[in-house]
Parts: sequence; C-alpha cells; structure tokens
Amino acid sequence: MTTQASPEAITVEALINGQNVKSLSQSAKENPTHPTEIVGYFPDTTKEQAVEAIEAAAVTFKTWKKTDIEERVASMRKAIEKIRAAENEIVNLLSREHGKPLYDAHGEIYVALMWMEFACNEAAAALQEQVTEHDHGKTILSYDPIGVVAAISPWNYPIALSTIKIAPALLAGNTIVLKPSPYAPLAAAKVAEIIASEFPAGVINVVHGGADVGVELTTNPKVTKIAFTGGTETAKHIIKAASDTIKDMTLELGGNDAAIFLESFDVNDERAMRRIVVSNFLTTGQICMIAKRVYVHRSIYDAFVEKYIEAANRWIRIGDPFDPNTTVGPVNNLKQKEYVLGLVEDAKQRGAKVTPLGTILDQKLFDQGYYLQPTLVTGCDAHDRIVVEEQFGPTVPILPFDDEEQVIGLHNESIYGLTSSVWGSEAEAISVARQLEAGTTMINTAAVQGLDVRFPFGGFKQSGIGREYGTEGIRTYTEPHVINVPNMLDLPYIPE
Ligand code: NAD
Repeated sequence: MTTQASPEAITVEALINGQNVKSLSQSAKENPTHPTEIVGYFPDTTKEQAVEAIEAAAVTFKTWKKTDIEERVASMRKAIEKIRAAENEIVNLLSREHGKPLYDAHGEIYVALMWMEFACNEAAAALQEQVTEHDHGKTILSYDPIGVVAAISPWNYPIALSTIKIAPALLAGNTIVLKPSPYAPLAAAKVAEIIASEFPAGVINVVHGGADVGVELTTNPKVTKIAFTGGTETAKHIIKAASDTIKDMTLELGGNDAAIFLESFDVNDERAMRRIVVSNFLTTGQICMIAKRVYVHRSIYDAFVEKYIEAANRWIRIGDPFDPNTTVGPVNNLKQKEYVLGLVEDAKQRGAKVTPLGTILDQKLFDQGYYLQPTLVTGCDAHDRIVVEEQFGPTVPILPFDDEEQVIGLHNESIYGLTSSVWGSEAEAISVARQLEAGTTMINTAAVQGLDVRFPFGGFKQSGIGREYGTEGIRTYTEPHVINVPNMLDLPYIPE
C-alpha cells in the first residue's frame, strides 16, 4: 500500500529532561479512515534513550518530591487550562489518528479533564499527613511519593488513559516516563507536551515505541512503579519483567463486561434501549468497560432482540469521523479489525445468527477504511469464543438466561471482572449487582455512561490489580510511611 503524508501531518519527538529528542528512525501513523494517508510520525525511541529518560526522571525526583502540593496543583491547573484552550486542535488530531468520531474525541477530553480537575481538588486532602496522639504515644502517617513511574498506555483512549496516570503521579510528587501506544501516539504526546510545559524539566518524560521500549521501562531498577493500561496478556509479560526488581504496580487490563437484563426490564423503554446500544458500540466497541456480552431473561428475550435491533439501527451511523452524523467510526487498526472478524466468523461457523446493524453513510469510505459493520450475534453458545473472549470491537452477543443464579454464575465464571451492569427494577438490580465479581456495576446504564471518576475504578481477577480514579487513584502513587513515637520505648516482655 503506497502511503502519503497528509498536508497536516505532524512529527512528535521523545521528550527527555525537557528537551525534544530525535531518533535515528521514525514510524508513521496512518489514518484508519483513509489508511493511505499518514497523520504523523513518531520516533522509534531506542533503549538507550529510554534509559536516559528514566535517569532524568530519577534525578528530577530528588528535588520534585520536596515541592509543595499547592505548587504542584497550581501547575496542573495551568496545564488543564492549556489543554482546554487547545481542545479543538487535539480532538482533530485524535480523530484522524484514532478513527473516533469528533463527538467521541471531545468526550475523551471531557473525561480526561474531569479526572484532572478532581485530582487537583482532592490531592491535598488525599495526601494530607495524619498525626494521631494515642495511648501508646504518637503516630505520623504520611503518603510519600514512590519515585519514577513508568506509565504505559493503550490506543483506545490514548489521552484519558495517559492523563489518568500523569495527574495523580505528579500531584503526589513522583516523576514520570510515559509511553503511549504506537497505534495512537500523536495526540497523547501533544497533551503530555502541554502538561510538561507547566512543570520543571525531567518531571514528565515521553518515549515512543512498542514492546522493546516497554521492556526497558518495566525492568529498569530506577523505575519504582508501573502504571499500565492494556491487555491481560501484555500484563503477564510485565509482571514477569518487573519481578526482578519488585516494582509497585497498578494494572488496568481487559474486560468482558456483561449487561444483565432482568425480567422487570421494560423493553419498550427507548432511552434505555439506546443506552445499551451506546454501551455496546461507543468508540466502535473499543473500550475496556464496554458491555461485551448481553444476557436477557428468557421471558423478554425475543421482544428485547427485536427492540434492540430497532434501537441499534436508529443510533448506529457508520461514517467519516468528521461527519457530524457519524456515531461509529472505523476500527483503529487492521490487526484489531481482523481479530473481531475472526470472532464473528467463528460464531457463524458454530451456527450463530449474525445480524448487521446500522447504516453505512458512505460505502466508498467504508470500503477503503478499517471499517466493520457492527453486528449482533444471537443463537450462540454460552462458551463460544464471541462470548468468553474480549472482542474489543463492533460486535456483541445477546443470550437468554432462565434465572438469576444461572446468570450470576455465567457472569462470575469469566476470568475477567472489570465492570458489569444490571437493568430492571432498581431493588432487584442492586440485589443481583451485589453478587457480581466486578470492580464497578452500573444500574440501568453501562460503560462510560455510568463512569464516576470520584470513585475507584479497576478490575477483579484478571482485569487488573489496584485502582485508578477516586482517592485510591491518587494514593496509589504513594507509599504510606508511618513514623511511630511510642511512649513505652522498651517492651516489658523482652528480657534484660
Ligand atoms: P496492549 O496490551 O497491546 O498495549 C498496551 C501498551 O503496552 C502499549 O503502549 C504497548 O506498546 C505496550 N506494550 C506492549 N508490549 C509490552 C511489553 N512487553 N512491556 C511493556 N509494554 C508493552 O493493549 P492495547 O491493544 O493497546 O489496548 C487494548 C487492551 O487494553 C484491551 O484488552 C482493553 O480491555 C485494555 N484496556 C483496559 C482498560 C482498563 O482501564 N482496564 C482501559 C483501556 C483498555
């Protein structure tokens, strides 16, 4: 395939100790809507440059950790304002490199800024030293920064899943080396550059590349914490890589989130039907917390499927991310498109029915880009690949269930446990929700529509370790440090 740089093509460089650093070679990021068009170039950061970035972060940490929380918050607030001022430019770049429609790209900035604001508002209280006077003396509990954070982000929400790490890490007094995904490196690099402009050199460093650079970040002894969002398989490599130096880790991984529709759910509720369709197909289904398998009580199953198809056909308009009518853009990359196609093909082979959903607004564009028409899969078995694997793309299976115990069992037998949702009367839904193994369960909504950055977010089981967002998402970048001043210095049971 012959490619050509877009007239707007940009080049981003690594950022090491406040300097833009070129590499001997660079890679190109194509536009998934027009794959022959290059949106921009990013450097193939070398292992040696990654080491330099880590060294810079380690040296800067010694002074940065001593700064006041007020100073850090003030710098972060200035960065937020600069991102806000540059929003249209960032969104334009994000849509072109990622393929997400403009409204969705704005949505990503909205989520990113909401969290950054929350972190600024909460940091001082979350990190406040606590002094307790008690019967045995006095205890001082402080939340100390951990050191150099390696932040590794995925391609699906490249900005929000980078700033989710950058903001709390820096506010807590750490320095950072960010590696965005090579499938969406440009807008994340731009945002990191904007934030970095408000902080001393070396506080934020950015490197680019794939697994090679990732391995340096996860093995280097000077990195003391890994904040990773990505696939569960990649996380297994990271855990092994980090084991020699026992690093602190926050891992936000894959999910196979279930949406459960109880008998009390009203299939004629059009708003709710739209919400579940959005929960399945926002960002072309490429969200960790999207509803990836839908279970519907058998008594309402047929009516549900009928209404679901109507709602999906109304909401899903597949087209150019820059067309305001478009709700669903292309898949971000060819590898992911082929993976999703493979899952749908496997379901078909096993006798499932595959129903195409939505309207293709521009067939020529559809044929040239990494587009996939969203599909609904019915008549599949509970243990088909399309049900048990994370699709991370525009397809969803809907299955019937007979009773709560059965559906709770199906939910909980997954290796994943990121988010889930239960739909129906509130009391019944909450009662089922309590029995689900998932980091977040939403009632009568799902996916980002039910996200609340004020509360911890993360997964049970192989969906991850630790939490982002909420106070937990700030403290996760600290080590609790206890200073004990006992009033009884010598213990009575220890012999003289
Ligand atoms: P991925 O695991 O392929 O890549 C994630 C990042 O890890 C990229 O920057 C990649 O270059 C880097 N990487 C790859 N190999 C590495 C290695 N050996 N060492 C260090 N870094 C390495 O994931 P992806 O395809 O970019 O993202 C999709 C996955 O992310 C899905 O499974 C999705 O569910 C998950 N995800 C989870 C959350 C969450 O909050 N739980 C959010 C978004 C995405």
